Amino acid sequence: MSQETLSNLLHETRRFAPPPELAASANVTAEAYEEAAADRLGFWAKQADRLTWAKRWDTVLDWTNPPFAKWFVGGELNVAYNCVDRHVEAGRGGKVAFHWEGEPGDSRTITYADLQREVNKASNALLELGVVKGDRVAIYLPMIPEAVVSMLACARIGATHSVVFGGFSSEALKTRIQDADAKLVITSDGGYRRGKPSALKPIVDEAVAETTSVEHVLVVRRTGEEVATTGKDVWWHDIVDRQSDQHEAQPHDSEHPLYILYTSGTTGRPKGILHTTGGYLTQVAYTHHAVFDLKPETDVFWCTADIGWVTGHSYIVYGPLANGATSVLYEGTPDTPDRGRWWDIIQKYKVTIFYTAPTAIRTVMKWGDDIPAGYDLSSLRILGSVGEPINPEAYVWYREHIGGNRCPVVDTWWQTETGAIMISPLPGVTSGKPGAAMRPLPGIAADVIDDQQQPVPNGGGGFLVLNEPWPSMLRTIWGDDKRFLETYWSRFDGLYFAGDGAKKDEDGDLWLLGRVDDVMLISGHNISTTEVESALVSHPKVAEAAVTGATDPITGQAIVAFVIARAAAEGTEGADFVKELRDHVSKVLGPIAKPRQIMIVAELPKTRSGKIMRRLLKDVAENRSIGDVTTLADSTVMDLISAKLPSATD
Ligand code: ATP
Ligand code: MG
Repeated sequence: MSQETLSNLLHETRRFAPPPELAASANVTAEAYEEAAADRLGFWAKQADRLTWAKRWDTVLDWTNPPFAKWFVGGELNVAYNCVDRHVEAGRGGKVAFHWEGEPGDSRTITYADLQREVNKASNALLELGVVKGDRVAIYLPMIPEAVVSMLACARIGATHSVVFGGFSSEALKTRIQDADAKLVITSDGGYRRGKPSALKPIVDEAVAETTSVEHVLVVRRTGEEVATTGKDVWWHDIVDRQSDQHEAQPHDSEHPLYILYTSGTTGRPKGILHTTGGYLTQVAYTHHAVFDLKPETDVFWCTADIGWVTGHSYIVYGPLANGATSVLYEGTPDTPDRGRWWDIIQKYKVTIFYTAPTAIRTVMKWGDDIPAGYDLSSLRILGSVGEPINPEAYVWYREHIGGNRCPVVDTWWQTETGAIMISPLPGVTSGKPGAAMRPLPGIAADVIDDQQQPVPNGGGGFLVLNEPWPSMLRTIWGDDKRFLETYWSRFDGLYFAGDGAKKDEDGDLWLLGRVDDVMLISGHNISTTEVESALVSHPKVAEAAVTGATDPITGQAIVAFVIARAAAEGTEGADFVKELRDHVSKVLGPIAKPRQIMIVAELPKTRSGKIMRRLLKDVAENRSIGDVTTLADSTVMDLISAKLPSATD
């Protein structure tokens, strides 16, 4: 970004007040902001008391050696005990922890008592395999209950897990095994994906063959397909099933490493983010309680993320289980056997809280309103979004077509690095603005600053920073303190810089504007990709848009847009449509933001976690050969888009 701060072009006037009944019985009220502002550390200490500690902490926060934080210093607890055993001990063993739904239609109901037995057996099996406290375990599994059980078993015995998304290649798995020096890999023969078994074991074999640290590979049978075996393999059903279902959990230090998780790789080389025990569990439990207004007795919570991403760690496993919630866990894709699968699952389990990503919302929006309209979604009461900025029109569509205009939408900003939600509306407090993440949660300090490290005034845009340490913050990059300092703490003095741009509106509420690396410099103005994309998506025929800045002889950079039309829309081809869209953007944001060029495409390049990869679109827009596509979910997309190039110029 240049000297100037980020432009604020989009003005959104719609407001959605919390439903009165929800506000009246909300878990968290507006007072929480004041309480936390008056005594931030006292506020977090109170939240830590949601957990059961074997030994109480001496100091809430040790920040004497910034940016290396220690939270709840001297405290000891066991994460698995907090997520499972204490609920059973409190007489809630019969409560459902997970309604698991396999893609082919098989299902399992797992109570807290079942989970306790399974975690204990798996813990005993890990110990038999020689895994001890402090070892690292790589987990490469589909979305099956054993994934949760494996994570909790590691946490229970104090082994640090590193979950690798099941869609990653053997090369990606190999580098993650090597980086963490993993002793054990837990995998399965495969999982179900788009109606077919999809093998995982051969990918693991290839990766493990090139590593030296792995002693055993523990294999869950899921698909029943034939797999080759190596001398390191142990079947889950052979070793776990015969174990005792008793295991006494030992407490671990509050700063004991709970897991390593590599960021999703939108921008470059993945970083092994390290999260620890007490502070992490405190903030995921609190935010799950506050942001989703979770009522553990009555709610059915469903987070559609994969367990391989941080959202799956914090809001499928640790947050919901710490709070004793009932959740849905679904193995497959939203379009198997048909495009109504998600809505069918909501109807079947009477899901009350639904948490997904903008990429999914835009996809179902593209498929058409009539699909969700065919299901009973009346059980829903709160909707959440995470992963990318949500375009206001996608928010309004989500609210209307999924939430029946009755459910608040919480747009939650956070990162792998932050461990838990940081900026979000509170559903019983905040009057939501479509597209805005609104305010830092109670106990969290964030600001938008310019390049001189001065806070921007209301109405201005700039760099999003976090001013104070928070309990679930990353502690370092695994094995690389230097990179930790350089990546997050070197740009601004004493502040965590997240890499994202944001603006403060007239009321001081926060709007995320995408990554600062993607910001376009048009005739001396810094224009965010998010605002132009949102303007395009506000056209009734558009489902999804991605924009990038391409070198331009006149304006420095010019805006090039890639647009996906809605399936039901007509007249979405040719020069007339392109002109209509260009004029529309100019009308919504002003002539400065009018795209030079718009290409109508069928797909956009996305990472495996579903985020748009704008740097590849920039290559297309500048007629360069396309850069590294290894983190792309589908590399053929780029060929399709490149092929479009010559004819699509306006
Ligand atoms: P990498 O760091 O490897 O490039 P990544 O940033 O995509 O990958 P994640 O930690 O999964 O990895 O994603 C966090 C990022 O996602 C945030 O920094 C932000 O850019 C974006 N993001 C997440 N939630 C929101 C949201 N509600 N609004 C806007 N952006 C969001
Ligand atoms: Mg990131």
